[in-house]
Amino acid sequence: MDDLQLLVDLHREADRQGPGGDTETALAIELSCLRDRHGLKIADIGCGTGASTLVLARELDAQIVAIDFVPEFLAALDRRAQQAGVAGRITTVSASMTSLPFPAGAFDAIWSEGAIYNMGFEQGVQAWRRYLKPGGILAVSELTWLTDHPPAELEVHWRSQYAEVATASAKMAVLERNGYAPLGYFVLPEQCWLEAYYRPMQARFAAFLAAHGSSDAARAIVAAEEREMDLYERHRSHVGYGYYIARNSRAAT
Ligand code: SAH
Repeated sequence: MDDLQLLVDLHREADRQGPGGDTETALAIELSCLRDRHGLKIADIGCGTGASTLVLARELDAQIVAIDFVPEFLAALDRRAQQAGVAGRITTVSASMTSLPFPAGAFDAIWSEGAIYNMGFEQGVQAWRRYLKPGGILAVSELTWLTDHPPAELEVHWRSQYAEVATASAKMAVLERNGYAPLGYFVLPEQCWLEAYYRPMQARFAAFLAAHGSSDAARAIVAAEEREMDLYERHRSHVGYGYYIARNSRAAT
């Protein structure tokens, strides 16, 4: 089993595959000013098992296209949408976020929690703008330095994982130079990492290792997650997830 399949296996039973929370998705909705609009079309890119998709479906008058390249996650999302009684509002699409199968100007809003880093923040916001209507909303969460002096140990780790890690002002500048007007920004509270993401993942480690006969590859994945958790717990005042809400300020191309 390759590493991607092992990661899918570790995460497929989870409510979410990255830091986040229903309250925080709702706050982003509030800042987007979409609540009073009707008949919205929204894409949720890198949706995983659909934590944010379900909130969008519950809270907005919208049809939501939920996109991920892991079919197992989309199957879980379909089941959860049925259970929540919102399946009629959600369509799942298996596709890569780097080549989305939609026409230009298809969406009133693009959502993406904890996923845009897979193609890089700047490349993502640049590429996705063409799918937004003029004035359409982009709402993304992204790893962010909370101070301009992260400790060396933390900086070395995250730079090696994600070269684009930067402060909120640098992310805002990326949005501005790529045709967006920032509308709002907030930082995910610690419980979005600890209670909502890391603790449930830790609780799955033993079963995950057992299911894979404690293979070297499975143990390496657990070790990498443990290292990330330890760094987060010791340095959480310096690093977090920023939630960025912005409006497409140019006409669709
Ligand atoms: N938004 C979800 C999942 C975040 S984890 C949540 O917050 O819980 C990142 C997600 O992006 C995973 O589900 C992963 O399968 C997906 N992903 C990673 N690279 C991708 C790509 N190139 N195209 C589409 N989805 C991708």
